[in-house]
This record gives sequence, structure tokens and C-alpha cells, in this order.
Amino acid sequence: MADLILVLNAGSSSIKFRAFDAGPAEPELVLHGQVEGLYNAAKFSAKDADGALIGERRWEADAALGHQEATDYIGDFLRSHRAEHRLVAVGHRVVHGGVQFTEAALVTPAVIEALDRLTPLAPLHQPHNLAPIRTLLDARPDLPQVACFDTAFHRAQPEVAQAYALPDSITRLGVRRYGFHGLSYEYIASVLPAYPELGAARATLVAHLGNGSSLCALAGGKSVASTMGFTAVDGLPMGTRCGNLDPGVVLFLIDYLKMDARAIEDLIYKQSGLLGVSGISSDMRTLLDSDDARARFAVDLFVYRIGRELGSLAAATEGIDALVFTAGIGEHSALIRERVCRAARWLGVDLEPAANAAGGPRISTAGSKVSAWVIPTNEELMIARHTRAVVRKEAVRAAA
Ligand code: ADP
Repeated sequence: MADLILVLNAGSSSIKFRAFDAGPAEPELVLHGQVEGLYNAAKFSAKDADGALIGERRWEADAALGHQEATDYIGDFLRSHRAEHRLVAVGHRVVHGGVQFTEAALVTPAVIEALDRLTPLAPLHQPHNLAPIRTLLDARPDLPQVACFDTAFHRAQPEVAQAYALPDSITRLGVRRYGFHGLSYEYIASVLPAYPELGAARATLVAHLGNGSSLCALAGGKSVASTMGFTAVDGLPMGTRCGNLDPGVVLFLIDYLKMDARAIEDLIYKQSGLLGVSGISSDMRTLLDSDDARARFAVDLFVYRIGRELGSLAAATEGIDALVFTAGIGEHSALIRERVCRAARWLGVDLEPAANAAGGPRISTAGSKVSAWVIPTNEELMIARHTRAVVRKEAVRAAA
């Protein structure tokens, strides 16, 4: 009977899941899927490792399937479809670990309490991330659960990179730069040594460009600086998030437009970025396919902001040796990579167009001072690795 690790990534209206065989040296994907449309007309689908559909179900809108029922359904599905496997642990993506959690943590009631206290720092994500953890702790208190954080990897940054220039009384409340997409950057850092030129790189700049986008400077396999700050709305413009914004704009919205916190939250998280600037779509593919001048400008702004932030992060590492593209846009859009590489030419990036069109992995010329790469990210595998490591460590501790 093989051991299975289930990885859950719970958002406001969906739970994505991946199940891994925990036996091999590297956890191996067994099946994956999601429940979408929670609290509405929910839809479940699951595929095996080869992408073949192995399960599908829809619920009427009045069924109002919530996080708890969806978590139960995924558990039941696993039991019925993988009877030959034994579920040994569940790993969860948790957006915020605050300053306390610098690595993945075994879930206990005290850990849940500590994570709950961080909800004001990530009100749109943290409660949803915690929902399946609570459900499983109630239903299966014997089943080890591990919380894996988007912030933890960045806790290695120097103190100055994590601080805002605010009075200490405010900093003490936890107002600091946390950085996000940490599981993606940690995964990329873990595979760099597999590429000889990258393994030897002193400083690598990683561009995670997806619906959410950010940059992270890596040195010695650790995060040195990142574009996201107190929240995941900072830094680059994204699908619907504005990125960097002068706080004076927020004051203007309050004073002049009389907007309250919730209205501003909606504006900067859901109505801005590529969607807000183009007025057309948050989806990069749609914008690249459009002839509309607003779509073009949204893409121009996206690339321009990446170029500027790239320079800022390269300054933090006093130059870079490599530039890595990852996530939806970074992995799939040769055009955006080409434009970003052009913006980084002054740093020594010399793009090889044919390699870029072919998707890499190396997309820079042999003589390029700074090499450029496409490396697919795998946050779920990172969670599975952490989950297995924490559970094994716990087993050793319990046996001692
Ligand atoms: P998330 O941050 O939700 O995980 P992804 O990493 O999947 O998102 O990235 C989604 C983005 O990637 C969308 O803007 C989508 O248009 C873009 N994308 C995916 N494939 C391509 C492509 N071939 N060309 C341009 N953009 C792409």
C-alpha cells in the first residue's frame, strides 16, 4: 500500500488539490483536480497524472457547497479512487505565516490559533486557507497536517529589506514587508543547481509572472529582496491588482472620493492592473491578441514596471548573473519574455530569439553576460516536499 500526500490550495471560491505518492525520492503526482464555484453552482473535476479525466460532478446553485463540504468530497473521492493508497498527511498552502513562521509547520490547535491571528494581514486569503485545515482537524485529528507559507521563504531577507520607514510602534504591529509567492521561489531555488550555469550563479532574479506577479532576487539559494510587501497587492501590476501605489493616492480616494476601506480594497485588488488599465481583460493572452490601444498600453505598462523593478532588485544584489521566467505568462509568453529581456539588456541580458520562441530552458545567447531562462514552477510539489519532511521529522521526534 503506497503512502499518499494530499496538497490543498484553498481560495475564496475554489479548492485545488493534488495527490502525490510520497514513496519515491521526489513525491510523484498521482492525481489532481479542483472544486470551483463554492457557495454557488459548484463543479468538481479530477484528472490522473496523464491528464485523463477520472471524476466530474456539478451541484445546483442552491446546494451552496462550502469549503467544508468540498474538503469532505475531495477526501471521499480519494478514498474511493485510490483505495490502494493510504493518506498519510495533508499539506496546505497558507498565504501568511507572519514573522513567526519561518518554515512549514505541523498543524496543532495552537498553530491554527496563531495563524488565525494573522487574518488582519491577509483578510482575503487567510480565512479560506484555514477552512479545510479546521475541517480536517475536526474530522481526522489523527491525520498529520502541515501548513506551508507563501511568506516563509522571504524571512531570510536582510532586516532592511523587510522594513518600512515607519515608527516602531507601527512596525511592532506587524507592518513590514513580508513578500509572497515564496513557495514558487523556493521551488525555483531548489532546482537551480540542476542547471550547471545556474547552480554557480551568485545572484539570480526570478520573475514569477502569472495572474499574480512579482520578482524575487535570490542569492545563495535564499531570498534577498522581493517586490511584494505587506500584502500581495504591492510591486508589479498584475491581472487585477495595481501593484506599487503612492499611499497618497489612497488618501486622495478617501478624502476626495469618500471611498471606504472595502471600496478601495475592491479597486486595488480586483479592478486595477491589466484589467483596470485596459478596460478589457485581466488575461494576458486576451490583451496580446487585441488590437485595442488600451490593451497595448496595459501590456506596455506591465513590461515597463517589470523593467523598473528589475533594476531595483538587481541593485539589492549588486548585479545579477541570471534571470529566470516562471508562472503562466513567464513560462508561456515568448513576446513578454522578449520585451522584459530588452528592458534588462543594460544589465547584460542578450536574448537568443530562436531559443526564446522554443521556450528554453536557456533563452540567452552563449555570450550573454547574464543568462536568461524559462523554468516551470511547481508550488504544489514544494508543499508536498515540505509536508513529507515535517511529518518524517515529527515521526523521528516522537520515536526518540
Ligand atoms: P495564477 O497566478 O492564477 O497561478 P498563472 O500562473 O496560470 O496564474 O498565469 C495566468 C496568466 O498567464 C494569464 O494572464 C494568462 O493569460 C497567461 N498566459 C498563459 N498562457 C499564455 C500564453 N501562451 N501567452 C501569454 N500569456 C499566457
